[in-house]
Amino acid sequence: MAASLEIRNLHVSVEEKPILRGVNLTINQGEVHALMGPNGSGKSTLSNVILGNPAYEVTDGEILFEGKNLLEMEVDERSRAGLFLAFQYPVAIPGVTLANFLRLAINSRMKANDPDSKGISISDFRKLMRAKMDSLHMDHSFAGRYLNDGFSGGEKKRAEILQMAVLEPRIAILDETDSGLDIDALRIVAEGVSSLRGPNLGILVITHYQRILNYIKPEYVHIMYQGQIVESGGADLALHLEESGYDWVREKFSTTTP
Ligand code: ADP
Ligand code: MG
Repeated sequence: MAASLEIRNLHVSVEEKPILRGVNLTINQGEVHALMGPNGSGKSTLSNVILGNPAYEVTDGEILFEGKNLLEMEVDERSRAGLFLAFQYPVAIPGVTLANFLRLAINSRMKANDPDSKGISISDFRKLMRAKMDSLHMDHSFAGRYLNDGFSGGEKKRAEILQMAVLEPRIAILDETDSGLDIDALRIVAEGVSSLRGPNLGILVITHYQRILNYIKPEYVHIMYQGQIVESGGADLALHLEESGYDWVREKFSTTTP
């Protein structure tokens, strides 16, 4: 059965302040969705909830992953079930290389599925890494770097995309807004997403930048504004955003007087 992430009537508050006010969104395996919207509209709040950040309180609604209540799953359980939640360890871990980190991630997933598993062999792991890095046009030396230690914004994104390629999730959520991405990092994310696209992967790219739409052609585009998805469409909506920005969204959907 194809996996899906279903967000139903989601209401979320931060410090008692309602931020999300009834979000509905379904991502199926094989689909690429973009969630766009002006700053402060609630995009990162949504990704934080999916990540299980305890600062965000779900006051109503639900999130289902493969029909199961995602909000009751532990964070590592979410990832073992095939949900990729961007980079879960954005802090630098000196002494742990990206390759070590990825091998640990693979092994812990294999052990979770089968307690007797001995994990992936070093030679299989090397082959896997080489194949994935080649498909992403990455230099092999990158895997030997210490995780996030002095990584540029673009390199962090590269590590994230590599992690996604190696773990082969069914649904991936990428929130790009918090890191002040330059055009180079944006292109890396877009190219990575494009190269991993396929029937087994559903992707939600959360971004404020219309520019990324020059590189990724999402099948579905959603606009979030004041905690709700106010408009959904296809590539045509992306083109409209590129030409007109968000002013028309504010004019059409604003519920509070400035
Ligand atoms: P976006 O990602 O679309 O720019 P956010 O989800 O980051 O929007 O923010 C939406 C609103 O929620 C903003 O008003 C922001 O100030 C508030 N908010 C988000 N996270 C927190 C937090 N941890 N503490 C307090 N307010 C928050
Ligand atoms: Mg954000």
